[in-house]
Amino acid sequence: MPQFFNRYTQFPGQFFTRMTPTALHQPELIHANTDLLAQLNVSLSEAEFLNTVSGNQLPEGCDPVAQKYTGHQFGYYNPDLGDGRGLLIGQTLDAHQQQWDLHLKGAGQTPYSRRGDGRAVLRSTIREYLGSEALHALGIATTRSLAICRNHEQVQRETLEPRAGYIRVAKTHVRFGHFEWLAQQQDTVSLTLLADYVIDTVYPELTPLDSADKYGELLITICRKTAEMIADWQAIGFCHGVMNSDNMSVAGETFDFGPYAFLDDFKIHYVCNHSDTEGRYAYSQQPNIGLWNCQLLAAAFSNIITEQQLDDAINGYVESYNQSYLQNMRKKIGLLETLDDDRDLVADMLILMDQSDLDFQHFFLNLAKVENADNAQQALRECLASEMVPDSKAWRMWLERYFIRRQLELKPEQCAAIMKQNTPKFILRNYINQQVIEAAHRGDYTLFAKVFEALQTPYEVHPGLPKSFYEAPQHPAQKSIALSCSS
Ligand code: AMP
Ligand code: MG
Repeated sequence: MPQFFNRYTQFPGQFFTRMTPTALHQPELIHANTDLLAQLNVSLSEAEFLNTVSGNQLPEGCDPVAQKYTGHQFGYYNPDLGDGRGLLIGQTLDAHQQQWDLHLKGAGQTPYSRRGDGRAVLRSTIREYLGSEALHALGIATTRSLAICRNHEQVQRETLEPRAGYIRVAKTHVRFGHFEWLAQQQDTVSLTLLADYVIDTVYPELTPLDSADKYGELLITICRKTAEMIADWQAIGFCHGVMNSDNMSVAGETFDFGPYAFLDDFKIHYVCNHSDTEGRYAYSQQPNIGLWNCQLLAAAFSNIITEQQLDDAINGYVESYNQSYLQNMRKKIGLLETLDDDRDLVADMLILMDQSDLDFQHFFLNLAKVENADNAQQALRECLASEMVPDSKAWRMWLERYFIRRQLELKPEQCAAIMKQNTPKFILRNYINQQVIEAAHRGDYTLFAKVFEALQTPYEVHPGLPKSFYEAPQHPAQKSIALSCSS
């Protein structure tokens, strides 16, 4: 069997359009993710690799296609979507027989480009490259980044920007919107074919089930995975920015990175996307929007599953989200045991954090520093002396409750260890991304490489990075870097 193939081309013709990439001439490789390449078990010479990411010549067996899909954008159904500037160039099997899609972003116009130019710019590909690898290292389900290149071409966005090519790797590029499209066409035969393909490539453990159970279980699994992914986003302070249903992967992986942000100050209703004027995709809304998207997917599945399965999928989302989120937050504050009042303890903490404009990441790092939590009074004094939080009555009361709760756990050292394991020291804040992008625009990729390296082990301090990268941003301008959908 060749290294590369494209099983997606076995679908009926309306699923895709075969395309030749519009290549980047005279490309310059900015980064290759050699660990991921090794994991994929792929061997390509340097020249072949650069030819692939620049779309100049694809390896044997690749068969690039633009996929057709639809989806709900900002709440409204758009029937005209599809890969407008990216191509599924091929697939490969790793040593564990897991299939991986290779998707080339910035590969030129397709029949689904609408008014777009089919190009990707360096700024947004750097953001996707680093953002997805950051989440991966934090243990959060996400697509991966294999390679990024640029050339001398300029692409018009708000300003002229360098053109880039980027290869994304994912278990699948099937989106919620693929199923919405087939349901809208009332094409149940194709929808079943696609469901079988997703089971085969992403959820093979469902294959033995008979068809009365299989599709229901598929929906239940996708909803559960989506809920767990969003619970992980909330706990790490990740805002996706554009949770349209065409940006939701049926693998339950973070997908299509746009104007995303990791929180600086904790603002519960923070909106990272400046184009999202109504705050539809605010940090606080992500769990609800995830549910809304799962309801769209469930509606698309409604012809091939029972009503009971549909209800189970939606109820399963809510249960999985609540359970995973609370468990994640417990770990962030050093708790393991499950007690009824924990939910209120976490909720009250978040309200206070929001009111006090505390840096989301630093708050937990500071809390982890309190060693003597076996004595609530002493811990409280330690906390206030270190000016970890404003000295207010509300904070005093919360801290007292928290330290009393913490004493119910096994040992203080264990609490501290749990918090350390769940509180990254290095977070890809937007102002860091911005510095990497500005250096790259000047043709300097050393900061990119350093940041990429540091993101692999986010729980450590990396002496090679500027010290300020470990601090909360000092200037208001660094906290509110304007991010739009334009990419
Ligand atoms: P996104 O906001 O990246 O999720 O894209 C939404 C839709 O617009 C998808 O169908 C994309 O393929 C398409 N699209 C985004 N940018 C471009 C572009 N520069 N050229 C063509 N299509 C685009
Ligand atoms: Mg998209």
